[in-house]
Amino acid sequence: GGAGAGMVTGAAAQVLRRVFGYESFRSGQREIIDHVVDGGDALVLMPTGGGKSLCYQIPALVRPGTGVVVSPLIALMQDQVDALRALGVRAGFLNSSQDLDQRRAVEAAFLAGELDLLYLAPERLRVEATLRLLDRGTISLFAIDEAHCVAQWGHDFRPDYLMLSMLHERWPGVPRVALTATATPETHKEITTRLGLADAYHHVADFDRPNIQYRIVPKKEPKAQLLHLLRTEHPGDAGIVYCLSRASVDKIAEFLAGQGIPALPYHAGLDNLVRAENQARFLREDGIVMVATIAFGMGIDKPDVRFVAHLDLPKSVEGYYQETGRAGRDGQRSTAWLAYGLQDVVQQRRLIDASPGDAAHRRRLGTHLDAMLALCETVECRRVGLLAYFGQRGTAACGNCDTCLEPPQSWDGTVAAQKLLSAVLRLDRERHQRFGAGHVIDILLGRSTPKVAQHRHETLTVFGVGEDLRELEWRGVVRQLLAQGLLAVQGEHGTLALTEASADVLRGTRTVALRREPERVARSSVRSGG
Ligand code: ADP
Ligand code: ZN
Repeated sequence: GGAGAGMVTGAAAQVLRRVFGYESFRSGQREIIDHVVDGGDALVLMPTGGGKSLCYQIPALVRPGTGVVVSPLIALMQDQVDALRALGVRAGFLNSSQDLDQRRAVEAAFLAGELDLLYLAPERLRVEATLRLLDRGTISLFAIDEAHCVAQWGHDFRPDYLMLSMLHERWPGVPRVALTATATPETHKEITTRLGLADAYHHVADFDRPNIQYRIVPKKEPKAQLLHLLRTEHPGDAGIVYCLSRASVDKIAEFLAGQGIPALPYHAGLDNLVRAENQARFLREDGIVMVATIAFGMGIDKPDVRFVAHLDLPKSVEGYYQETGRAGRDGQRSTAWLAYGLQDVVQQRRLIDASPGDAAHRRRLGTHLDAMLALCETVECRRVGLLAYFGQRGTAACGNCDTCLEPPQSWDGTVAAQKLLSAVLRLDRERHQRFGAGHVIDILLGRSTPKVAQHRHETLTVFGVGEDLRELEWRGVVRQLLAQGLLAVQGEHGTLALTEASADVLRGTRTVALRREPERVARSSVRSGG
């Protein structure tokens, strides 16, 4: 070809072509690589699949010495190193999975200058012997992979990452390149300060994935809804179905298989061999549906994943973005589908309450969940909301997400909210009792259940005041009030409780806009007895 934009020259370009077999750089790569080859620091914020690895691998091959890669993904190191070796790159790793002989061999290769890349788990750097080892060799650069792990604000904080600030102090002449797929402004800022990268070259990629259609639907009959999606829109397609627990992974995989869909389970509780086999089949065969916990997907590079379905609410927008981002890497039309319901909110809040760590940590988890809920309940374009979360503002409505295609209607839910909050207030007076959403809704609907009778709740003034709405709608009210922080859940029974903000609604000084629950119910196409 001629001297077009795609033409590449220079040492980096030669490595790109000769070692990796690619013709041209992807957006951003050339600038980052040139900068690091010249000895500068870089901070790379690029979505999963964007091509971050080459941003340190090529400079490591061009510069003299060994590129030291710090990565928390110990389970992937062997694969990464094998893949590099297959390309003729001299790579090795040091982590806790090795015995002494294996470690010695890697160390010797490093000292002899026979390694282009050395992968290290961050905890290795806590060991003085590792630091002395690095002192005795020649380091071309430090790559800090998954750099968001240094951010306490983030969703994946690892204390060992905090010491990475010493890399620059101990080896001031060695360039550093930090990389992450998490690009919220908060995380970006924290990585910059903690790793001292204020003067580095910052590359913030476009996080938009235009070929992914985002849809978030109310959870009614999740299995039937999922089956409907697969049958009507993705027959024969490869995809991933994410579930929160191992038990539901097994259940859903079995269910889909029973419906004639080639589904396989994947979670940490499965035997290693089974897990490896299922993953291999997903990568190798066409049209496999992987039903998995979020343990699945890291480092998986399958271009033709046509859909990612979530049957449970992700804990954060970062998680949602990364998981859905595994769809459509080939640029073809793909679906990101999430079913979420009241129970998800209750469950996630319960997990946060029970999570280890201090109050500040739980508050952070709460903030992450709130952002995810806001995305679920938004009446605006999902893509706009998602990109705004990653600091990318000013994008136009996409015209291709569920809220763009079928704009949700909102209604004045102030009176409904007042009824519900009054019921919670009344029940709250019975301090020794614990009442969840189901019971509160029974009271509002005036249902004489055994529990209502037992507690004489038919005598409450709020009994039966909610007959103007259906149960489904009441569940929507509860869910949205939880999402808006106007209601809280407590304890393992999911007891509803008021928040500070609830008082304004009860006093009538605050109105509540709610999203109307879609009427459409997925037509169930479950085979009977399947
Ligand atoms: P990330 O680490 O950002 O998730 P990777 O570095 O694993 O992404 O790259 C994703 C895929 O894109 C890999 O298969 C990689 O080989 C490929 N890739 C990266 N850069 C290029 C390029 N310039 N041309 C073609 N393919 C590329
Ligand atoms: Zn949209």
